[in-house]
Amino acid sequence: MNLKEIKGFLKGEDDKTLFDEANEIRLQVFGKDVYLRGIIEFSNMCREDCLYCGLRKSNRVLKRYRLTMEEILESADLAKINNIKTIVLQSGDDLSYSKDFIGKLIEEIKTRFDVVITLSLGERTYEEYAYWREKGAERYLLKMETFDEKLYEKIRPGKRLKERLQRVEWLKELDYEVGSGIIVGLPWQDLDSLANDLKRLTELELDMIAAGPFIPHPETPLRDYPHGDVDLSLRVIALLRIMNPYANIPATSALASLHSDAREKGLKAGANVIMPSLTPKRVRLLYNIYPGKNESCQCIIDEIHYIKRIIEKAGYIPSDSKGYSPRRLYA
Ligand code: SAM
Repeated sequence: MNLKEIKGFLKGEDDKTLFDEANEIRLQVFGKDVYLRGIIEFSNMCREDCLYCGLRKSNRVLKRYRLTMEEILESADLAKINNIKTIVLQSGDDLSYSKDFIGKLIEEIKTRFDVVITLSLGERTYEEYAYWREKGAERYLLKMETFDEKLYEKIRPGKRLKERLQRVEWLKELDYEVGSGIIVGLPWQDLDSLANDLKRLTELELDMIAAGPFIPHPETPLRDYPHGDVDLSLRVIALLRIMNPYANIPATSALASLHSDAREKGLKAGANVIMPSLTPKRVRLLYNIYPGKNESCQCIIDEIHYIKRIIEKAGYIPSDSKGYSPRRLYA
């Protein structure tokens, strides 16, 4: 699809064709299965100062937490109990978790549970990524947020787009299943920029692609900007599905924060993954990337049941598969 066609669909010029085609492709590749990925948000400490994110280091109001190895393993046990076969370990960019700590954590999880591990720890060194891959982590998620260099450098002060992109390339080289993505509806982002993001994401030949709407956080400099549009976010998901038939694409929790049935619509637009939070009750509200995060259910078991109901209500089937990247099998 060329940029002009992408932009036309983003404007909503032919929603019926777009959503029908996306759903058709999704059914061909994944059937009705929806993969569950249990996410453990083990630290909300962050050395970065991203303008959009509630975890930014300048947010002095947020109470910070770090989970211990045992606490993280207890959360991982919940994945086992609930038959969830992927664990996503996510945190702010928190360097206090050393290369060895994360390595040991991966080892412990792999010894105790039959799961695939996705890491989402932000920007670390090539050596760290290589070591964790060796220890058994199979997937890494590092969203570009935007491919527009000027916008990127404005919303991530002191950071360079090409350095993040370099890391995505390293992760591919290290044979991770690699995920990246963007935020839809960022301040100063226009449709040309968004259309270009979809093209660039597709060129990266990713195993996972996430695109969730921007949600303004009151303790950030972007507090007064409007949130990303739900319909636009759904069109982005549908376009990503058509352009990347074999990628695992989540219906994000950011989507759910904006509207109670938006995640269901995300599935119908072509998404095939949902990520319930396994973060302990004591701290889950403190992983406050944006307002509404982790607020729908305080109890983890309730959240998993709630998500399974959403999937079934949308006409799909919660899958207990490990959900490996079909791109690697077929593409
Ligand atoms: N520190 C890691 C990193 O930067 O990759 C992972 C954690 S980071 C908090 C996870 C994701 O949250 C980011 O990639 C970003 O897309 C998303 N995010 C942060 N603030 C957001 C906001 N206000 N609205 C929507 N998404 C947001």
